[in-house]
Amino acid sequence: MDKSNNHPDDELLAAYSAGSLPLSQALCISAHLEHCQSCGQKLQQLNHVGSELMQQLKPSKVSDELKNKLLGMLDSLPQDIAQEQPREIDSRVPRCLHQFIDKSYDDLDWKRVSADIHSAELCRDSNGARVELLKIKPGGSATTHTHMGDEYTVILEGSFSDESGLYGQGDFLVRDENDQHTPVATQDRECICLAVTEGPIQFTGFLHRLLNPFIRRGYA
Ligand SMILES: [Zn+2]
Repeated sequence: MDKSNNHPDDELLAAYSAGSLPLSQALCISAHLEHCQSCGQKLQQLNHVGSELMQQLKPSKVSDELKNKLLGMLDSLPQDIAQEQPREIDSRVPRCLHQFIDKSYDDLDWKRVSADIHSAELCRDSNGARVELLKIKPGGSATTHTHMGDEYTVILEGSFSDESGLYGQGDFLVRDENDQHTPVATQDRECICLAVTEGPIQFTGFLHRLLNPFIRRGYA
């Protein structure tokens, strides 16, 4: 049974199936799919439609030059990919994040954001979006904030609530720049989220407004 109640919309899933999403968003969808059977089934249907459409396309002639270039690229792929030793990775880490994490969440370079939150950046997308993990201590608050672009969040461990409801493992959330919200982790355990922000986060509390210029600099 699916644990998650919040899912990516059909448009996002279709773009994921077509391979047209930026890496940062695709990582969030992949992480959600590891917890959600119903989106997995929907994705299979979308993939099926995509392959049917491909088959209806008329084949076009490829030049010998392009064909040779492609074959050359395949030949030059590293041969040791298949021989790489399997690593023992904490089963809590989603497969789509194995490329960033050696063994467990503990290996990451966690930086203190506030008394309640630590963050570890995983990568930057080519469009500038920041992909990071956020760890909120039990009962901790992420303070009231908005952001300059969309924010994607997938809950990997624990749960949190905000003005709109309670969210648990696997839940996929998209907030746009008009959403002002205050996530608070539940008391029982820490909460770890995968978060993608397309623009700097803006804290909207009085004291935090003073901090915003410093936070914005992080995106330069
Ligand atoms: Zn889903």
